[in-house]
Amino acid sequence: MFLKKIYVNGFKSFAEKTEIVIEKGITAIVGPNGSGKSNISDAIKWVLGEQSAKSLRGGKMDDIIFAGTEKRMPLGYAEVNLVFDNQTGIIPIEYNEVSIKRKLYKTGESEYYINKQQCRLKDIKELFMDTGIGRDGYSFIGQGRVEDILSPNSETRREVFEEAAGIVKYKTRKEEAIRKLDKTNDNLDRVEDIVHELE
Ligand code: ATP
Repeated sequence: MFLKKIYVNGFKSFAEKTEIVIEKGITAIVGPNGSGKSNISDAIKWVLGEQSAKSLRGGKMDDIIFAGTEKRMPLGYAEVNLVFDNQTGIIPIEYNEVSIKRKLYKTGESEYYINKQQCRLKDIKELFMDTGIGRDGYSFIGQGRVEDILSPNSETRREVFEEAAGIVKYKTRKEEAIRKLDKTNDNLDRVEDIVHELE
């Protein structure tokens, strides 16, 4: 599995629809300061579900929409589409190519797609969980992440290895089940109170 294409349109400095083709092997993005290199990694993080504007180096989420220049009008939406080669089947979906897209309108509406089918953010997160590619995947090593791997805190280091070992999906499901159980217990307590009152 590898990321083979990135389409960026209206995202940060990419005012026009731009196609970035990535070949197998090592790819380096080079360019002058401020030319938009980090905007490409921000775009990848964003599609994978980044919800923190700060992590995308902005103040609020709609800062990622092309804000205009002296010569160009601002745009009303941003969209990014990632295309993965999935011939190895690591992404658990029966397609050799997987495309995921996120679109954000200035009005605040968000849309997500897996292979052109509209979906929820949760579906994208689940699809990439334990592939190492997700927003918190070990494949995305920003400056802070290097510190995580070298961290003297064993919990922080453990999280990196858990993602690599493919157990995050089960941990997340367990946490969800525990939350539901807690809610059910609360409801049961409430029912018992009402029964007591009625007796
Ligand atoms: P460096 O090498 O200095 O780290 P870089 O190549 O990584 O730079 P980026 O940080 O990716 O550059 O891009 C910064 C540029 O993106 C700035 O010129 C900034 O004005 C532009 N930019 C960021 N957000 C927007 C936006 N919403 N609309 C238009 N341009 C934007």
